[in-house]
Amino acid sequence: MLPHPLTGVPFASPVPPGSGWPDDPADAGTPVAHSADEVVDLARSAADVAELDARVSVCRACPRLVGWRESVAVSGRRAGFADQPYWGRPGPGFGDARPRLLVVGLAPAANGTNRTGRMFTGDRSGDWLYAALHRAGYASQPTSRHAGDGLELTGARIVAAVRCAPPANKPTPEERRTCGHWLDRELELAAPTARCLLALGAIGWDAALAAVRRLGWTVPRPKPRFGHGAESHLITPQGRRLRLLGSYHVSQQNTFTGKLTEEMLDAVLARTR
Ligand code: SF4
Repeated sequence: MLPHPLTGVPFASPVPPGSGWPDDPADAGTPVAHSADEVVDLARSAADVAELDARVSVCRACPRLVGWRESVAVSGRRAGFADQPYWGRPGPGFGDARPRLLVVGLAPAANGTNRTGRMFTGDRSGDWLYAALHRAGYASQPTSRHAGDGLELTGARIVAAVRCAPPANKPTPEERRTCGHWLDRELELAAPTARCLLALGAIGWDAALAAVRRLGWTVPRPKPRFGHGAESHLITPQGRRLRLLGSYHVSQQNTFTGKLTEEMLDAVLARTR
């Protein structure tokens, strides 16, 4: 048991559902998916975002990713975080339950979301993303270090193509397909209010397009190509039009090299309004 860096409350790693972790959406009774078919059933029957978050956060459908996220949490902690408990569970969506903007990222980082339990929280990618969301008026504060720090998003929600930290940041096609069913339900629940999907990186872009196709939304043909600032239009079966925007991912690989600058990210976020 190690103390949570913000609250000081001791936790085991991985964190048991309902044991008091800040903003843990699940409890000991939350149903757990152990296969792709169970992900489909539990995603489709999630009545709202709160239920979806809870079910995502305890999912065990991908054995390789479950093994990896838990091994990092138990024995693979980065030296600088060795005195902290690790969430060691999938990252549930974070933000406004009725978003105008749905941000679709790639996957949690092993020492970021897999440690803190919140999307893009506790790593350099998150520093970039939340600072930009704050400048754009979506985030209540520019930093996101720990769950329970008071950060709120208004009008925006962040989800990911894959919810468990993958080894080398590379989920397999099967893992992407399995986790895509959670994303399908995210899109269905966001569709009544969302005006814009912002895909971070080509994997987020492809995952969003695959999900909306499965849901029967109208997607332009040929398939819209990903690029920084790329834009396409999607139409839901109810006739609502949404914009799909692309941005280079906020990974260090892009931000350290200058491939993605603050100005470039701000310019894309300005178009989500
Ligand atoms: Fe479940 Fe997605 Fe994690 Fe696979 S990647 S175990 S489907 S949450």
